[in-house]
Amino acid sequence: SPLDECLLDVDHYPDGNGDHKFHVRNLTRLSHDGLPILKGINLHIPKGVIVGVIGPSGSGKSTLLRAFNRLWEPPSSSVFLDGADICHLDVLSLRRKVGMLFQLPSLFEGTVADNVRYGPQLRGKKLSDDEVRKLLIMADLDASFMDKSGAELSVGQAQRVALARTLANSPEVLLLDEPTSALDPISTENIEDALVKLNKSRGMTVIMVSHSIKQIQRIADIVCLLVDGEIVEVLKPDQLSQAKHPMAQRFLQLSS
Ligand code: ADP
Ligand code: MG
Repeated sequence: SPLDECLLDVDHYPDGNGDHKFHVRNLTRLSHDGLPILKGINLHIPKGVIVGVIGPSGSGKSTLLRAFNRLWEPPSSSVFLDGADICHLDVLSLRRKVGMLFQLPSLFEGTVADNVRYGPQLRGKKLSDDEVRKLLIMADLDASFMDKSGAELSVGQAQRVALARTLANSPEVLLLDEPTSALDPISTENIEDALVKLNKSRGMTVIMVSHSIKQIQRIADIVCLLVDGEIVEVLKPDQLSQAKHPMAQRFLQLSS
């Protein structure tokens, strides 16, 4: 099954294998002072799965996630999207295909609808009210929010507007860097529901960094454990207790 393929070694697959959304091969990054931040990551992310990424602070989770839409420039031939080296893609089209949400949403000035219309407008397309409404509903937000100003929203509501704004670009992949860690449990559940629906109904691939193991167990199909710049385990959520790496075991014990 596609999930089991994640567990296999990267060298079993030639470049250009279209069955994987992302294919990461020996991805490395050094800090300014030459210390390794990512130490040769190998990973397959099949289409249509929800991947959870967990690990201690400073283990490189955000750095890994930010390589996928080139918020930093990975070395060439290390990250492939649908078989294409992302370094050779136009960066703006890459970021339309691979949307991202951060811990705290930052909405633009103007109404919720203005925010949702932003991406398509850059490409000369004006979304109708009906299209905006549909995107809000996809992000688990009531359509009555359309004309509200971003400033009057709670963080949880603003995060869902940020999700709708990203969805307006029809992304194939969503990158989420601790998207609910500033949210209350209800808002967290709303975001999780929206992600699971998008995954189930549209086959959207989701890669989510979370510090919450419970959250990962609620929504992820596979979990990558990152320790010190290395993926030390790739497991199904119900196998987390079987992690073998000592740091991974310790991390799981302390955070469960
Ligand atoms: P995490 O998201 O798991 O907490 P990060 O990816 O943010 O970890 O950071 C991993 C390590 O890389 C940390 O030691 C951090 O200080 C370092 N780091 C992250 N970004 C940079 C950068 N742009 N320049 C130098 N060091 C960085
Ligand atoms: Mg981080």
